[in-house]
Amino acid sequence: MKYLAFLCFCFLAVPTNAQKPKSIPPIAKSKPKLIVGIVVDQMRWDYVNRFKPFFKSPAGFLRFVNEGATVDNTLIPYVPTVTACGHTCVYTGSVPAIHGIAGNMWYDNVKQKSVYCVEDATVQTLGSNNNSAGQMSPINVWTTTIGDEIKLASNFKSKVFGISIKDRGAIIPAGHSANGAFWYDSKNGAFISSTYYGKTLPTWVSNYNNLHRPDSLYNLDWNLSLPNAIYEANCDQDENSYESTPFGKDAKHFPYSLKGYIGKDYGKIASTPYGNNLVAEMAKQALVNESLGADNITDLLAVSFSSPDYIGHSFGPDSWETLDGYIKLDELLADFFTFLDKQVGKDNYTVFLTADHAVANIPAFSKKHQLPGGSTNEDALKKEIGTMLTTKGLDANLISFIGEYNIHFNHPLMDSLQLTQEKLVEVVTSYLEKKADVLQVVDARHAASAALPASLRERIVNGYNPQRSGDLVIINKSGYVDGFSTGTSHGAIYNYDAHIPLLFFGNGIKKGSVNRETYMTDIAPTISTLLGIQMPSGSIGKPITEILQ
Ligand SMILES: [Zn+2]
Repeated sequence: MKYLAFLCFCFLAVPTNAQKPKSIPPIAKSKPKLIVGIVVDQMRWDYVNRFKPFFKSPAGFLRFVNEGATVDNTLIPYVPTVTACGHTCVYTGSVPAIHGIAGNMWYDNVKQKSVYCVEDATVQTLGSNNNSAGQMSPINVWTTTIGDEIKLASNFKSKVFGISIKDRGAIIPAGHSANGAFWYDSKNGAFISSTYYGKTLPTWVSNYNNLHRPDSLYNLDWNLSLPNAIYEANCDQDENSYESTPFGKDAKHFPYSLKGYIGKDYGKIASTPYGNNLVAEMAKQALVNESLGADNITDLLAVSFSSPDYIGHSFGPDSWETLDGYIKLDELLADFFTFLDKQVGKDNYTVFLTADHAVANIPAFSKKHQLPGGSTNEDALKKEIGTMLTTKGLDANLISFIGEYNIHFNHPLMDSLQLTQEKLVEVVTSYLEKKADVLQVVDARHAASAALPASLRERIVNGYNPQRSGDLVIINKSGYVDGFSTGTSHGAIYNYDAHIPLLFFGNGIKKGSVNRETYMTDIAPTISTLLGIQMPSGSIGKPITEILQ
């Protein structure tokens, strides 16, 4: 009956519309031919604002601000805030509890051993004699990605590629059904892949490798892009004892000579802005040689710039190196977007740019400015807890693993000693919660009832995966960073690690800015809505509809 009523309404509606020809909706604008996803590894939200005065071109980061949409309160809704979890969340719209990527590396509670996020012993390396570097695939990701959904929606006619210095930065964003993912082999200075994607490395990748670009980039050395006074006025001093020295213990300040690495030491390029050049050049090669965005079937190119993470870990967010790295990345982006305009056509593609996580200040820098914080060390902590357990008449081996703020119990040993979960939780928690750097230790399985503000509690729940997470999650006080005596890191629940940039421009994007709270999990559903396709299977986010035309 309702159906009939609906039909009647339609018949009645026709003549009404016919009398008003002006109300015929405009022909829908064509969908983007290409989605370009850019992850800038370790980029903090505040960098665009802080570095804006030093960006020379309106066509790089500022193109998002001038032509596109900025989403300014985007938060990571889980812990740990690390690279693998970030890339997975961006492209699945999901969280470790559902997508399975519980860390860069985790202790597998079923296999009772450490697992690297993209390791896959069943595949072989393509393009290198460095066998372990290429035995990688996305099999540990349990849900579909944006690339997978783009493929499903096109009967697998879409083309999907991932490119990064880091294996996990290329493999996870490209997804399960990708045509290819390429990452950098630091031993040979070449982009490689695995047999997961095919039998041979594409000829265009071998041809690019044969250019030996790392050598020609090393030949340029690392000099500042702008006058010294700019860096002096806007950064911490150039040389600090709390910075790491990736270019040797005597290379503590600008300019950095890189010529000595030519023909060897290919891994060093990751800690220079030139790692980004390699990724951008490979992205251009992929666009041309794989004809991405050439027809009306939407393709996906996922690009992840890893060098900002390496630079940030060594020198921190307030360093000359970080500012100069972003000035150079801005120029690269401007060049890349101009290339896309020519290659794919200005209105034919859509770009989003975000980060996999942000970063804390170097603890000693914080201390210098009377800000809270300090450094912690999980290896030392494991020994310390072991000693504590021994003094209580328990076994030091009851802790299997501590990593990325997760403590894994040794369950087989607990069973053989008939030690209950409750007892070990109680002993370890009461010990750790007396430490000056610890805010709270959360019983992972019962995180939903932890005595923390709801939004923070939810991040622990979202990060908890029974097969791959620890029994306890350490929440350090603000500013306390797990790592080494120099440099800094990320992984915590706090805004300095969890507040990320989110920028869009191109086909289907409305100019403007959004200030309400949004989440990393919203990115994938936003792209799905833009394309009119299914959301990735484990997505828990909501589309940011304000930015869509
Ligand atoms: Zn990192």
